[in-house]
Formats: sequence, structure tokens, C-alpha cells
Amino acid sequence: MIKVFKFGGASVNSVERIQHLATILEQYQQDKLVLIISAMGKTTNALEKVAEAFYAGNQAEAIQLFHVVKQQHLTTAKYLLVTHYNACHDQLNDFFTEAEWLLHDKPVRNYDYYYDQLVCIGELLSTCIISYFLNEKGLSNTWLDIRDLLRTDDNFRDANVDWDFSAPRIHAAIHEAISQTNCCIVQGFIGSTDENESTTLGREGSDFTAAIVANVLDASGLTIWKDVEGVMNADPRQFPEAQYISELSFEEVIEMAYYGAQVIHPKTIKPLQNKRIPLYVKCFLDTSLPGTAITGKKVKQLPPVIVLKKDQVLMHLHSQDFSFVGEKPLGDLYTIFNETRFRPNLIQTGAINVQLCVDNRAEKLDQLAAKAAAMFDVQIEKGLTLLTIRHYTNELLQKLTAGKQIVLQQQTTETVQVLYHE
Ligand code: ADP
Ligand code: ASP
Ligand code: MG
Repeated sequence: MIKVFKFGGASVNSVERIQHLATILEQYQQDKLVLIISAMGKTTNALEKVAEAFYAGNQAEAIQLFHVVKQQHLTTAKYLLVTHYNACHDQLNDFFTEAEWLLHDKPVRNYDYYYDQLVCIGELLSTCIISYFLNEKGLSNTWLDIRDLLRTDDNFRDANVDWDFSAPRIHAAIHEAISQTNCCIVQGFIGSTDENESTTLGREGSDFTAAIVANVLDASGLTIWKDVEGVMNADPRQFPEAQYISELSFEEVIEMAYYGAQVIHPKTIKPLQNKRIPLYVKCFLDTSLPGTAITGKKVKQLPPVIVLKKDQVLMHLHSQDFSFVGEKPLGDLYTIFNETRFRPNLIQTGAINVQLCVDNRAEKLDQLAAKAAAMFDVQIEKGLTLLTIRHYTNELLQKLTAGKQIVLQQQTTETVQVLYHE
């Protein structure tokens, strides 16, 4: 049986961590492994800045920013490699050229297209260096460009996977690779269209790639290696007292991700649940820790799970002629969410008004407000935080909202959501 491992940006953000990755893999030499790897550290953010500068017409700045990314990767490769350095350098250069060739042109297509052509380089660079490094260490592996296998549509930055086309290709290419080297390395987060344009699956999408690959290969499990003990009941960066959870159900994790917990990408669960493939979240820094096991089994007695989403905006929509907010206007609103690809984090409807809590994304807000203005008077309130607590207790709710100016609250027996001023 095949095991799929996913290493995120934080697990490969330095020479030491990449060396540490090799020591983890040494413990799995008897297994058939597929590694899905993200871009190193904050490379994706850095490449986003390159794309922004390029699209704004600041070509020299874009080239300079790209140069920094290039140097960082060459330095990492130099520290990690001896005998394989030259071969790795040549392959890195091919990726650099791919980007630089584009940067020397002028933008003629939309921003999202350029974003994907540039940002996809991060995963290609990281997997290339890591593959050469592991081969040099005797951990023999095959590197594949997943863009040859994972077909998507051309909805750049949030591309949709063509399962029928991709599944047999992923299956065939990876089986062939691991029949020879036991270990195969591919990039998370990226794919390509039928015209060979690169695409990305949305930020933090490597988890989703790992789930797709695990599904297609009928893997025995997917392990996501992270810099935390496992899944916690809150982000430990926001709540240092967060508790580690040893077992969770697919359903609970989907709910957590849906409300914005930044621990596993929301699209990861479905491909796993559909084939009953267990998901493990394990600690990259201390492999002796048990981590979290996520399966189809219901887990009782969970601690309250807290999710904070900052920088929220409340959009007040008020019926212009006092007509009720019935099926028609609500249906139209949902059409607008689809058209703008901008989904509210919370919706509250009244007789003649609707309130939408959304992320503060300027261009999306403008589009949504402009379209909604055809039906409603629109007012916008910024600077809000959305707190969600699953399995809440009233004491905890009171503690976390004490002294806050609450603007909206929604509650079921299981989940409470409170929007308040920051
Ligand atoms: P990677 O992309 O390398 O997997 P991220 O930095 O995206 O790593 O995610 C790891 C971080 O997720 C942790 O350091 C932690 O702060 C944060 N995090 C947010 N919510 C949770 C949660 N509920 N449980 C565990 N970690 C969480
Ligand atoms: N590198 C991408 C990002 O930072 C994808 C991922 O890490 O999952 O969003
Ligand atoms: Mg990440």
C-alpha cells in the first residue's frame, strides 16, 4: 500500500528543516511513498509580489523581486548539495527562465493568469531541490512535474480539477515512478490547463493536491506534517493555551475548515472521505508525538473548537422599496456570490434587510457592492472580527466576548458565531 505525505511550506523553510525531512524519510524506507511538497516558507507570498509588480507595469521591480527568490533557492541548493549541485542548478535555471521570459514581456492577459504562471514556480523550485538532495543522500526518488498529470480548467488562482482526465494519468505515472524508486515527489497546489498554461488551486492548496493523489492511488493514509503537535482546538498563535486533539471525524474537520480554521484546506476532506482514507496530522519537529487521526468515526466529547477570522466586513443590504427579502432577491444574491466567486462567512436575513459578513478583499467587495446595489441600499462596516465556537459553553462565549462591541450573533445548539469590533 502507498502512503502519501504532505510537507507544507513551514516544514521546508530552511536548510536544517530539509535535512530533518530526510531523517524522517529514513524511517519509512520500506514503504512506497508519495511526497507532496509546497513552496519553501514564504516563497508563495514573495512570488505574489513579483506578479503584482509585473502586472502594475513595474517590470524592473518585478525582475528584482524575482532575483531575490532565485538567489534564496540557489543558496539553499548550494548548502544542501555537493555531487548533485550542477544537475539541480541546471533544472532550477529552466524554471527561472520560464518566469524571466514572461517578466520581460508586457501583460496583455488578466492578472490571475500571470499570477499562476509566476506563483507555480515556488513548488517547482522546492521539489526540485528536495528531490536532488534526497537522491544525493541515498533516498532514491523520482521527481515528476504534476502539471503533466493534474488537468484543471482555466479558472486561474482557483482552478477546478478535471478528475476524469487527471486520475488515470496520476495513477499511471506515479505507479511507474514508485515501481522504480519507492518514492515519488510532486508539487502541491499547481496544475495545468489543456493548453499547458499553469494553474493554481487556491492558497494553501497543497493539502488538496495530497488528498487528490491519495484518492487516486487508494493510499493507506495521508499524513500532513506540520509544525504543531497535531490539530488543536484553536490556532496556538492566537490562543497559546490551545489544546491538542488526538482524534477527530472528517465531519468535524470539514466544519472547522468551513468556519476558517487555518489548519487543513477545506477541500482536503472529500477525496479522503469518499475512499475512507485516514488523515493524520503529525508533528514534523517531534515525530514521536502521536498527532491527530482523522477518520469517518464520530468522536464524542470534543473540547470547544475556536476559530477567529480577523479583518471582516459587514455589508448591510436594505430593501429599496420595502419589499420583503424573499426567494427571488435571495436567489439573485446567491447568483452574485457565484459570479463574483466571493462567499459570505455569515448571512443573516430579516424582513427587509440582509447582512453579509465577508473577508476584507477590496476588489471583491467593490464587485459585490456594485451588483447588490441594483436591488438594495448598501452600507459597509469594516474592522470586525468573526469568532466561531463549536461545542461552545456559555462561560467560554462570555469570556471570549467580554468587553467587545458585538454587532451580530448567530447560534445553534452546536455552534455560535459572534461578529464584533476589533
Ligand atoms: P504549512 O502550510 O507548512 O502546513 P501553516 O503555517 O500553513 O503550515 O500551518 C501551520 C500553522 O497552522 C500552525 O503553526 C498553527 O499556528 C496554525 N493553526 C491554525 N489553526 C490551527 C489548529 N486548529 N490546530 C493546529 N494548528 C493551527
Ligand atoms: N505554497 C502555496 C501557499 O503558500 C500552497 C500551499 O502551501 O499549500 O499557499
Ligand atoms: Mg501553508
